[in-house]
Amino acid sequence: MTVRALIKDGATRLAAAGVPDPRLDAEYLLAEALHAPRLNLLLSMETAVPPAAAEQFENSLHRREKREPLQYILGSQPFFGLTLTVTPDVLIPRGDTEALCEWALDTLPRAAPAQVLDLCTGSGALAIAIRHERPQAQVTAADISPAALAVARQNACALHVAVRFVQGDLFAPVAGQVFDLIVSNPPYIPTGDLSGLQREVQFEPSLALDGGADGLDFYRRILRDAPRYLSTEGRLGLEIGDGEADAVAAMMASDFEDIRTLCDLGGRTRVVAGRKKHGY
Ligand code: GLN
Repeated sequence: MTVRALIKDGATRLAAAGVPDPRLDAEYLLAEALHAPRLNLLLSMETAVPPAAAEQFENSLHRREKREPLQYILGSQPFFGLTLTVTPDVLIPRGDTEALCEWALDTLPRAAPAQVLDLCTGSGALAIAIRHERPQAQVTAADISPAALAVARQNACALHVAVRFVQGDLFAPVAGQVFDLIVSNPPYIPTGDLSGLQREVQFEPSLALDGGADGLDFYRRILRDAPRYLSTEGRLGLEIGDGEADAVAAMMASDFEDIRTLCDLGGRTRVVAGRKKHGY
């Protein structure tokens, strides 16, 4: 069969399965099977697809029809201009998280060797992007999941970005250390909302999503300890879920000042950030 016929057939099947962007996903999956960039595919629509590639495409389509995320099937996801490996052990980095990354880069001087901590690093997306853009910074990334850290280490290594990875519960593996900047995209979905999320999200680790009954458990824990781990005037930036900005900003108010919120590209408030109060 030709590229054109396989894409058409694949898109029809994915549409029937309720996949949001069926044609685009079919194109990505066939491009992957042919080891070619998607745009090349679109320039060779009448080419016959070799049987081995057609079989791989069939396997991938079957997985996507079951609503497995495209990124787990392809094994990668772009973040901040970098291509990251992703597996079901890590949350798929979202474009929304680039808002926190941009804020972090704005706060980091280009020349000074700042100490940076990324809590709940998952795939390593934030830590790796920050260190990639600010090579002077010393970046530490922590996660409770050894399996996620294995993926994050692989990403840093493949991209030749030096990040120190540590395993443990929130601040436990960096006890006694002090940072100029702490960022985190912690789990923030209220437990009761998890089962109602898009089917694709059900494939992602609940460890990376479940923020407790009101979604705010990790903010409580991070904000309780963060001041001790921040240098004088150190900054903290947190990604937050829909509707969580006011609650998180209120929790920050006792120990932080210059509290601000930032929006993602979709115009939703996605980051709450602040500076540790003087004289804390
Ligand atoms: N952004 C993710 C989602 O909405 C949640 C990530 C998180 O809990 N940190 O599915």
